[in-house]
Amino acid sequence: MLAASASLLNVDVVVLDSGESAPAKQIVAPRNPSLAHVDGSFADPAKIRELASRADVLTVEIEHVDVHVLEEIESERGIAIHPSPSTIKIIQDKFVQKLHLRDQECSVSEFIPVESTVESIQQCAQTLGLPFMLKSRTLAYDGRGNFVVKEVGDAVEALKALGNRPLYAEKWVSFIKEIAVMVVRTTEGEVLSYPAVETVHKNNICHLVFAPLHTSDPSVAERARRVAESAVKTFHGAGVFGVEMFLMEDGSIYINEIAPRPHNSGHYTIEACETSQFENHLRAVLSLPLGSTALKVPSAAMLNIIGASSSMDEVRAFASTALTVPGCTVHLYGKSECREGRKMGHLTIVGNSDATVHARLRPLLSALPGGEQ
Ligand code: ATP
Ligand code: MG
Ligand code: MG
Repeated sequence: MLAASASLLNVDVVVLDSGESAPAKQIVAPRNPSLAHVDGSFADPAKIRELASRADVLTVEIEHVDVHVLEEIESERGIAIHPSPSTIKIIQDKFVQKLHLRDQECSVSEFIPVESTVESIQQCAQTLGLPFMLKSRTLAYDGRGNFVVKEVGDAVEALKALGNRPLYAEKWVSFIKEIAVMVVRTTEGEVLSYPAVETVHKNNICHLVFAPLHTSDPSVAERARRVAESAVKTFHGAGVFGVEMFLMEDGSIYINEIAPRPHNSGHYTIEACETSQFENHLRAVLSLPLGSTALKVPSAAMLNIIGASSSMDEVRAFASTALTVPGCTVHLYGKSECREGRKMGHLTIVGNSDATVHARLRPLLSALPGGEQ
């Protein structure tokens, strides 16, 4: 989606990912051999160096990259890397990220360090109560790295599920809603936020996003934007940041986590906002003027298309159904294989009212791959 935005502005994009036909590579063909895509892992220092040798500006779409080599490239070659490696380094370790946010007086709920032992996990129950959320510090996405510890006896299973990854633990947050705000940060450190949206997760995976956010307390949406903007100001480098938050019954807001890149809960901006998060990410990292973040439709919903099995046919059949819905735009990502729990695409529905959008969405929820999820 970033590559699609770049092609509209004649910006050349070179992609590092494994496979000749990785999704982003399907979008942009190299203009000449010096701009050929790189085949390899974004965790491989040699491949990152190869990519950097072809680029004026480096940016990431995932935070699980080798930061050490990015720091080296930054100091050796002085090319622009956005967001800055120091930001990626903080964010890619969720425990370090939480420490950073707490130090910067951003509102986060209680969390504690934990060792990868049964005893240490069991001790968390005394400090945090039950249930609590055990999280992998690194390489976490789509909830793969989270384990809900419901009773002390779960410690063995939790350790097994999360392997020997470095861990930390969070107090269970009884939120009434989850909220997200995309924030664009310029190279000068100015921030511009998108409207607050409601996110709905199922099995720890983003399922639905509704824009704009509706709450009984009308101050929440603006407060969420301020919380998100303040948090993003504490980091360095340009680009879009996705700020995930929890809304509590008493109206208080905690930051759950921050992504240093365009984010799934900002995909709705492609059809629903004046400028998409992808275009604004590009504009920010290239020091171009930012576009308006305002909604251009009264209401929008985003639904993730998540694989239910290895069947690509199920995904295709669902996409065909979605094409019959007015105001609906389907995005399939061109992934070569379908797997249970894998994000294969998403759709966005826009409409003149929330009621219209909900009416358009309803039949699609029951048509999802694998039935209503
Ligand atoms: P992402 O794909 O967003 O990067 P992730 O794997 O980093 O996901 P989190 O965002 O930490 O995982 O958690 C996923 C979901 O689990 C949250 O959106 C929320 O629904 C739930 N969750 C996370 N932490 C807590 C908590 N402390 N208490 C209650 N629920 C939580
Ligand atoms: Mg995460
Ligand atoms: Mg998350």
